[in-house]
Amino acid sequence: MNGIKQAVILAGGKGERLKPITDKIPKPMVLINGRPFLEYLVEDLKGKGIEEIILLLGYLPDAVTNYFGDGEKFGIKIKYSISPVGDETGTRIKKAEEYLCDKFLLLYCDNYCPISLEKLNEFYAEKNKLATLTAYSNKYGYTKNNILIIDGIVEKYDRNRENEKLNGVDIGFFILSKKILDLIPDKNFSFEEIILPKLIQMNELSGYITDIPYVSIGKIERIKDAELYFSERKVIFLDRDGTINVRPPKAEYVKNWDEFKFLPGAIDGMKLLAEKNFEIYIITNQAGVARGFMKKNDLDDIHAKFHEELQNNGVKISGIYSCMHDWNEGCDCRKPKAGLFFKAALENKINLCKAFFIGDDERDLVAGKEAEIESYLISENSNLLNTVREKILA
Ligand SMILES: [Mg+2]
Repeated sequence: MNGIKQAVILAGGKGERLKPITDKIPKPMVLINGRPFLEYLVEDLKGKGIEEIILLLGYLPDAVTNYFGDGEKFGIKIKYSISPVGDETGTRIKKAEEYLCDKFLLLYCDNYCPISLEKLNEFYAEKNKLATLTAYSNKYGYTKNNILIIDGIVEKYDRNRENEKLNGVDIGFFILSKKILDLIPDKNFSFEEIILPKLIQMNELSGYITDIPYVSIGKIERIKDAELYFSERKVIFLDRDGTINVRPPKAEYVKNWDEFKFLPGAIDGMKLLAEKNFEIYIITNQAGVARGFMKKNDLDDIHAKFHEELQNNGVKISGIYSCMHDWNEGCDCRKPKAGLFFKAALENKINLCKAFFIGDDERDLVAGKEAEIESYLISENSNLLNTVREKILA
């Protein structure tokens, strides 16, 4: 049970960093592939079980209210709290007080991240603080950190991003108790500058860290990423050994191309995916490198030949991500950990919750689930082609 039914979105700013686009339209209405960015957020929130959205507007509010109306067109209830352009974020929240539920989700209007609201809410309940902030771990590098979280508690919020120990980026997706309104001063004030530091001081701000890459329209140069992220592309991740080729026994490895044997249905399965315009990425554990059974060069050589063989069959592989660490190295990328999915998603601007994954091992399912990907295993008497037909294209 996620128990959160209301989302509040801060969408009133002038969008200075998106000028000149925002000379005529407010930031949430910036078009991404012909649809306002805010529409993607609304759709995602609806999918997460949110029933009501409160939009906190200020700059050019008519553009938003005319488009979204009461939300009926989008299958969700939308209400507005409109206040002067000069109001800061905290003031906007305060002025919406009469609309707020006892517990609500607060978002910035320029970040999108398909995190699980259920997991976030479980974390909020477990930490039992007035507020939870969501931070992107920034593990594969994207921007500068501005948050320090230790044992699930936010210790520092550094808007200047100067402190060296910082370990995350605030991306919004706060869960807040309405009680935070008691902390609010009478003057015009910023939520980030006044409330967050106060919560930290009181030890009342927990910090949920996610590895799932987010997409943002905070700066003009990021709009292209958002366009790719929200484009109508289809993405599938495939495991390698046991899914595409014959899986060697435990602790043995495919060490050269001669040892690489395609499984029945594997090439045809990938051909079918390519015909249906899927981008195909391979995610594979290859501990044989760290364990000294083969060199990285050997693995590169296998994958070069693999690319070539598939190309001859009309199949393009968009990327191969291999974990070459040893079993016990404690890396983040060896499945059942999901690090390679996050890396591939960040590098290729993939929306993980719209992607698929097929593997052959329980660990694949665990990793897929952690990455919020719709995941399937090839069952014992089946193969890749049948699984693609039955699970992905059905
Ligand atoms: Mg496998």
